[in-house]
Amino acid sequence: MDSQILAELESLRQHKQRLERDVERLLTIDQLTGLLNRNAFTNRTNKLLNQPEVEKTQAAMIEFSIVGLPRISGSLGRHATDYLLSALAARMALMLAEGLLAARLDYKSFAVFLPAIVDPLYALTEARRILTKLREPVDWVDRKLSVDVMAGVALATANERHAEVLLENASLACRSAGQRGGPGYAFFNPALAENTRRRAEIQSAIQDGIEHNYFFMHYQPIFDCANGNLTGFEALLRLNHPKLGAISPAEFIPAAESSGQIGKLGSFALVTATRAASQWPADTVIAVNVSPEQFLDGSLITDIHNALELSTIPAYRLEIEITESTMMADVEVILPQIQALRELGCAVVLDDFGTGYSSLSYLWKFPFTKLKIDRSFVQAADTQPKVRGLISAIMDLSRNLGLKVTAEGIETPVQAAMIQACGCNFIQGYLTGRPVPDTDVAAIVMKRFAEAIRPQQTDIMLPGSLARRTAM
Ligand code: C2E
Ligand code: CA
Ligand code: CA
Repeated sequence: MDSQILAELESLRQHKQRLERDVERLLTIDQLTGLLNRNAFTNRTNKLLNQPEVEKTQAAMIEFSIVGLPRISGSLGRHATDYLLSALAARMALMLAEGLLAARLDYKSFAVFLPAIVDPLYALTEARRILTKLREPVDWVDRKLSVDVMAGVALATANERHAEVLLENASLACRSAGQRGGPGYAFFNPALAENTRRRAEIQSAIQDGIEHNYFFMHYQPIFDCANGNLTGFEALLRLNHPKLGAISPAEFIPAAESSGQIGKLGSFALVTATRAASQWPADTVIAVNVSPEQFLDGSLITDIHNALELSTIPAYRLEIEITESTMMADVEVILPQIQALRELGCAVVLDDFGTGYSSLSYLWKFPFTKLKIDRSFVQAADTQPKVRGLISAIMDLSRNLGLKVTAEGIETPVQAAMIQACGCNFIQGYLTGRPVPDTDVAAIVMKRFAEAIRPQQTDIMLPGSLARRTAM
């Protein structure tokens, strides 16, 4: 072969090598950040975990999840979040010791693998160190982009040495770190896996409930503190599963919210509760709880229209209860819907007031009609006189803003007397009536009429007309 052919062959060989390298790069590297992609990271981590010298040492997986990207891409566009993600990846890579594996797992999360650690606490220290750095704002054009970051740490044990499992555990820890409102980092523990299993079980029970009509409503009476009259009922969703028994809404509502099932439950609650209310006296209101997801998926106003039309009750008899956390979800999407509800004629109640990130600005920026003071306040007031002062202050504030106030979770005559003395307008709780099925509502309503004609005696001492309620 002459030298020219040899040179051409050599150049072809080099070209092929370059192409192979390019293909290899495309298959293993995340194009935006230059970090390993999930697949390549998992493969390499598995190899490291199973090397004889690493096998005996402890290893840790850390996942970092970036919170707040939709907000930035919504206001500044996708190129801003792309820039932010690549800047954070570069920052993370710079902080890592030579040879440590780092990856971009998906749109908003990164991972770091520590193959040989002596002390598990070292992994937590590393997580915290990187987390702190990632939380520093990134300069972009003429502004600073800030995001929150959560971290989850999972340790490889002698029996559990699969990268996939470690990643799953780190991710569970990461999500729990985000939920607790703590420092933003957490270790994996088996209880988290149990929570995930239970959540999946609940979600499948919800599905069964939707398909086989296991859902139904209970109604809890609400009374006017001034005259003891029944003003209406709060509708509370119930699920009775043939195998799992009664499941609390405190458990199935969050599960339904995270799985997208809440829309169906929400419209069921609206339709069922308004239909029930159409059989009650014309002055009784029906309060229905709605979750932030119902506002976000955009079908709430239509659902409410439909429920009102089907039941034929006037809009002023329907109260929509929303919690403070709803406002946290996305004010720009939620505020116009609350306004639309008010224009429709519905009342809007701020529920669980005082438990979340209470911001006084909600009170004047949002056209609420009522506040519901959370049960925890009422209970705390039993032992801490200061809380009573707080309830009185909430009353003063509400009066000035033209808002009515309901106190919920009233269990004892002492609590009832206290909230009445504070000037609360409405009372709700086990003392004055537990949530009951639709079939028992008539008895409560009838009792009211009967009492109006012939007030009953009671041995519980309550101020004014409320005392009569406890006889029910
Ligand atoms: P919530 O809206 O704060 O409802 C009041 C909860 O307190 C109800 O619990 C009620 O049964 C309970 N309760 C009432 N009086 C007392 C009392 O005197 N003492 C005590 N200890 N508890 C009392 P429930 O029915 O278990 O509902 C829990 C939460 O689930 C509700 O809290 C609400 O946030 C949610 N939920 C219930 N039904 C629905 C629904 O249809 N849609 C949505 N989105 N959420 C719902
Ligand atoms: Ca409520
Ligand atoms: Ca509440």
